Amino acid sequence: MSNKTSNLFYQSRAPRPFLDRAEGIYMYDQSGKRYIDGSSGAMVSNIGHSNPNVLEAMKAQMDKSTFGYRLHFRTEPSEDLASMVAERMPGNLDRVFFVSGGSEAVESAIKLARQYAITQGKSSRWKVISRFPSYHGSTFGALALTGYDPLARPFDPMMRDMPKIAAPACYLDRDNLTDEQRGLKYAELLRDEIIKQGPETVLAFIMEPIGGASTGALVAPDSYYGRIAEICKEFGILLIYDEVMTGVGRTGSFLAANHWDIEPDIVAMSKGFAAGYAPLGAVVARETMVEALLDAGGFLHGYTYAGNPLACAAGVAVLKEIDRLSLIDNCAAMGALLKSRLEGLMERYPFIGDVRGKGLLLAFELVSDKDSMTPLPKEYNCYLELVELAYERGLIIYSRRTRGGVEGDHFLVAPAMIVNESQIDEIMGILIESLDALAAKFDL
Ligand code: PLP
Repeated sequence: MSNKTSNLFYQSRAPRPFLDRAEGIYMYDQSGKRYIDGSSGAMVSNIGHSNPNVLEAMKAQMDKSTFGYRLHFRTEPSEDLASMVAERMPGNLDRVFFVSGGSEAVESAIKLARQYAITQGKSSRWKVISRFPSYHGSTFGALALTGYDPLARPFDPMMRDMPKIAAPACYLDRDNLTDEQRGLKYAELLRDEIIKQGPETVLAFIMEPIGGASTGALVAPDSYYGRIAEICKEFGILLIYDEVMTGVGRTGSFLAANHWDIEPDIVAMSKGFAAGYAPLGAVVARETMVEALLDAGGFLHGYTYAGNPLACAAGVAVLKEIDRLSLIDNCAAMGALLKSRLEGLMERYPFIGDVRGKGLLLAFELVSDKDSMTPLPKEYNCYLELVELAYERGLIIYSRRTRGGVEGDHFLVAPAMIVNESQIDEIMGILIESLDALAAKFDL
């Protein structure tokens, strides 16, 4: 029997109300109900909705041109945005290639790495090692790197699966190691995998510096980051940072890489880049890499909409607003406040087992036993239940049931970088009501 309510083809049948308008961290459906956008959509609307300066810049660009094919014209917004990005990147990462989203950014990063290796006489290198769990996108190349079986396995045997190492889910470890030792232990998994695969076949290692939806804002111990970079150097393997979710301020620094002074070889960005005002992403690499490719005839890659002037005008305006309003500083300060408030919930609720993250990319995880970190029973479907309880009460949060190799319910709390203290109170108030309702429903 048909359940058709629309000609639009959604991913699933869960009906949602029509969005009417959105402003700041608030969204309103057509009945007038207000929601706090506690996850910035999917960690996208980083500067809040309907920012008047961004809208004005986009309108001004619309009056000039909304499309200029990159093989026919250069455009000012794309040139301006590329220089603004280059100024904000660590070290020598100063060549920017525009795309329209996160999966495209990851695809482009892999192809850039592969073509560069060929120019260096290293065509035997093609394997890209990634982590499990991880999320790098939904296109086939990005999915090959994604460590999340429910999304990847249905596409076997069409899928090529790339080698994976365990993400550093140290909070689940029950050993006597120090944080530093644990970080090094997880980094050594990369070295082992490179040797197992044969270093001459390994092109790159890709990681989300702070996990997104896949691990729920998983931050590795500090020692992990530097050791991973060293291992990549030792074997001549390119280090790709997937900063699609973490980039452009979300973790309290322009890139998450800055927290550990890492200069990756390639960075993929999207989401907060045009912050939901337009589809936009980028791959950033070093001049030497890009020049080698151009000398060899050019990058064999591109998308029709890449560098679209309207999207780039939005990107320029977003970066200007981030600077004008000191949003990265606000993100760090409000992130610390929100994290401490979430940590407070661990005392109140015996079923909150972990709170983690950096800046305003924060998560908490539900467990049935804190000591063993045993997840709640799968049939409770808590990762969906709590989202619904919060949604009914006017708070949007983001959830998944997955963590370091086993299943667990985690929830991302990631409001826009404009959030203030009283709005954090509002978020916490609704979250507590929703957690109380969850506890009552499942007798937790
Ligand atoms: N990489 C990471 C780390 C992501 O979080 C996402 C999306 O959630 C992607 C890549 C894919 O981005 P998109 O959905 O824009 O294709």
